[in-house]
Amino acid sequence: MTKTALITGSTSGIGYTIARAFASKGYNVMFHGLETNGSEIARKVAEEYNVKTDFSNANLMHPEEIEKLIKTTFKKFETIDILINNAGIQYVSPLEEFPLEKWNAIIAINLTAAFITSKTVWVGMKKNNFGRIINISSVHGLRASEFKSAYVSAKHGIIGLTKVLGLEGAGSNITCNAICPGYVKTPLVEGQIKDQSKAHGLTEEEVVQKVMLKKQAVKEFIPEEKISELALFLAAENSSAITGSSFTLDGGWTAQ
Ligand code: NAD
Repeated sequence: MTKTALITGSTSGIGYTIARAFASKGYNVMFHGLETNGSEIARKVAEEYNVKTDFSNANLMHPEEIEKLIKTTFKKFETIDILINNAGIQYVSPLEEFPLEKWNAIIAINLTAAFITSKTVWVGMKKNNFGRIINISSVHGLRASEFKSAYVSAKHGIIGLTKVLGLEGAGSNITCNAICPGYVKTPLVEGQIKDQSKAHGLTEEEVVQKVMLKKQAVKEFIPEEKISELALFLAAENSSAITGSSFTLDGGWTAQ
C-alpha cells in the first residue's frame, strides 16, 4: 500500500522541499501550513508526481485544530506512516525584552504541537507495526545562541521528546529521530536576518557573514535538498534500527 507522509509547515521553506521529495518517491502527502496558496501547492504536486495530496491550514497554536489535522489526514488517506514535525517559528530578542506571548507561541508551535501530533498518530502506527516520526529540530537543539531563549529551549526540548519516543516506539517498529540543520535560507531565516540586524546593530549582509555563518565551518547556507534526502533515508523501511537519534546537518558547527 502506498505510504502517506504528513509534513507540518510544508507549504513553505524546508517542509515544502521535504514534501516534494516524498511525493517524488511515490508517497501520498498531506500538506499543511498557514500559507494561503496551500491547496494550490498540494494540487500541483499531486499532478506533477501522480500521487494523492491534500492540504490543511490547522493552526498549531490550538490543540483541537492539531487533532483535527490528524483526523482529516486519516480520513483522506486511511493511514499516516510518516509524520514530520517541521512547522516552526522564531523570535529574536534579548531576555529582558522577550515577550511572554512570543515564548508561549514558540513553545506551542515548535514543541507542544509535535507532542500532540505524535500522540495522536501513535495508536495507528502501533496498529500498523510501522511508523516513522522525524522532528526538524535545529543546531539550536544542541547549541545556544544569544537572544533566542524560547527557540533554543523548544529545539532542545524536541530532542528530548525524540529520545523518549524512540524508546517507546521500540518493539512497534516506530522510530523517532531528529534532524538538526544549520542555517537554511528560507522565509524564516529571511525574517531572522532582519531581526538580528536590529538586535546586533549590523547590516543584513554583516548578519549573514559575521553572525549566522560565523559558527559554521562551511560558510554556506545548508541546501534544503540535503535535509529531504536525510528525511527520506530515515523514513525508509530498512531504517528501523535508527531511533532516538539526532542528526546534524550543520556545516561543521557542532564539530567545534
Ligand atoms: P518557514 O517559515 O519557511 O516555514 C514554516 C512553516 O511553518 C510554514 O509553512 C508556516 O505556515 C508553518 N507555521 C508557522 N506557524 C504555524 C502555526 N501556528 N500553525 C501552523 N503552521 C504554522 O520556515 P523554515 O525555515 O522552512 O523552518 C522549518 C523548520 O525548520 C522549523 O521548525 C525551523 O525551526 C527549522 N529550522 C530551520 C532552519 C533554517 O535555517 N531555516 C534551521 C534549523 C531548523
